[in-house]
Amino acid sequence: MKFAELGLKPAYLRRCESLGYEEPTPIQEGAIPVVLTGADLIGCAETGTGKTAAFLLPVMQRTGETKRPGVRVLVLAPTRELVSQINESYKQLAPKGSPRCAAVIGGASMSEQTNALRRGAGVVVATPGRLLDHVERRTIDLSYVEVLVLDEADRMLDMGFLPAIRRILSELPEKRQTLLFSATMSPEIESLARSTMKEPKLVEVSPRGSAAATVEQMAYPCALESKTALLIDLLERERESENFERVLVFTRTRRGAERLSHILLARDHKVNRIHADRTQPQREAALRGFKEGQTRVLVATDIAARGLDVESVSHVINYDVPEQPEDYVHRIGRTGRAGKRGRAITLVTPVDEISMRAIERLTGQAVERVVLPSFGGAPAITQRAAAAVGAKPFRAMRGSGAGGRRSFRPRRAGR
Ligand code: AMP
Repeated sequence: MKFAELGLKPAYLRRCESLGYEEPTPIQEGAIPVVLTGADLIGCAETGTGKTAAFLLPVMQRTGETKRPGVRVLVLAPTRELVSQINESYKQLAPKGSPRCAAVIGGASMSEQTNALRRGAGVVVATPGRLLDHVERRTIDLSYVEVLVLDEADRMLDMGFLPAIRRILSELPEKRQTLLFSATMSPEIESLARSTMKEPKLVEVSPRGSAAATVEQMAYPCALESKTALLIDLLERERESENFERVLVFTRTRRGAERLSHILLARDHKVNRIHADRTQPQREAALRGFKEGQTRVLVATDIAARGLDVESVSHVINYDVPEQPEDYVHRIGRTGRAGKRGRAITLVTPVDEISMRAIERLTGQAVERVVLPSFGGAPAITQRAAAAVGAKPFRAMRGSGAGGRRSFRPRRAGR
């Protein structure tokens, strides 16, 4: 299908062409015609599927048909990074003469944002918390909003933004178009949609839990105390035909990310970190360094890494197994983009086996285990520990020295 068949006007088609978009992505194909009719829409799609253009293009075209003052389009997104990316996409996609777009995020100067809003912004992209600050101070008027976009709604709810969203919704006109994008559909999302949308159309592009075919997944069983040593070994050992060129390492906590990046820094790795305790300029600098190649290893927490659009991430390493199986899919989706191959490696301690199984159930794929005995990944140890916490024995094993597949038989009592 061609962009022209979706009902977009020449000015927008030219922007797509100049950005090198040859044909619409599935979410664009499904969402653009619906949004152009003015209907409410629920888009089930993750970042990386082209969903930003899927809502920006038709929303710009619809609101561009008339000239009116005030904030006419409001986009809410969970993280500062995602807000910045949507703001960048708007700059790229908006034809000349389009309304100004203001990014409203925490960690940036309140007065600069107030000035930008005063100068007149037709489009506001915001994180809910900071937008609410502006609403409370009356530095923004939301009574002219015609289109509301809730981007990564599932993540906004996970982050506890529901009260802020509800408060913001109470400031918006009843008559408006609402678009909701979410990678997952939970009962909470459905209830939010029911209370804020009118007969929404559903456009779904990737089934929940689908992992990219271009990502090769593997798990390294290891002892808890060997995790850091194993990560260092992976990053420092020259592996045949494996170049850890641009590596995104995930930890579960901010402290974990700090600790790990300091250890790697002490070993002269080009490393930086991105998590919620870092200031906005620090986060932006870390992301820039990673994108431009000065940083080889970026240590991140789930929330900070949501929506990161960095091309050519060669490896995602899950230093900690994610708490939510869905986060695994989001994490590994940072590699293997745009048809390039990527690898996702997960360090699995015995107690993580249960979480790993939940991930395998969600994705419907068994993840191959690579056993390196020197890191406590000897099958007998991990199998026994896995059995102790109720996990089944491993499906596949490969590796040096351990003797390959070994089954674990519990000792009978009295022997
Ligand atoms: P998103 O899911 O909105 O974060 O988009 C992911 C990336 O895909 C961004 O870098 C976009 O510039 C790019 N993109 C969006 N639509 C297309 C398209 N139709 N063809 C090629 N690239 C696209």
